[in-house]
Amino acid sequence: MTATTVNGIKVLESERIEAPISTSTNPIYFKQARRLLLADETELYGCIHCDFADTRIGVVRTHLKTHRPTKAPAPQAPSKKPTRASAKKTTAPATPDRPAPESLTPASLASLNLGQLVERAQAVTKTTKERDLARKERDAAREELTTWMDRTAKAERSLAAIRAALDA
Ligand SMILES: [Zn+2]
Repeated sequence: MTATTVNGIKVLESERIEAPISTSTNPIYFKQARRLLLADETELYGCIHCDFADTRIGVVRTHLKTHRPTKAPAPQAPSKKPTRASAKKTTAPATPDRPAPESLTPASLASLNLGQLVERAQAVTKTTKERDLARKERDAAREELTTWMDRTAKAERSLAAIRAALDA
């Protein structure tokens, strides 16, 4: 569709453009370009497929190539721009005070029983060794885990006491 406004100025008329090779006996018109008359009385040329317009017919004719249906559109080159997030992920240093794997969170540990916690403790020790973390970081992980194991053990003792009291 030809432009209805150009730079905010309304297009009043759109007419056929006679090609340079056109003669009175054999009139030839551009098929895909129109002469546009704007409200401010300027004239320019517009593409019939879109709202592209220019004062030079040559520019419009060059533009028309973008609408050519015979040629398949060039395949889109994949963006090689690396995402900031992924770049950061690889360079982000390990947080020194939380070196344990994802599973070592208070929320998930609280739901484990003592046996599972012991298993987890062994797994954490193994994992941290495999990751070759600094001894200080491993100690911090063990200390944190020990704290949670201690709390869980206390909670289990409390529950056992409550159950015993209820059974009595
Ligand atoms: Zn166009």
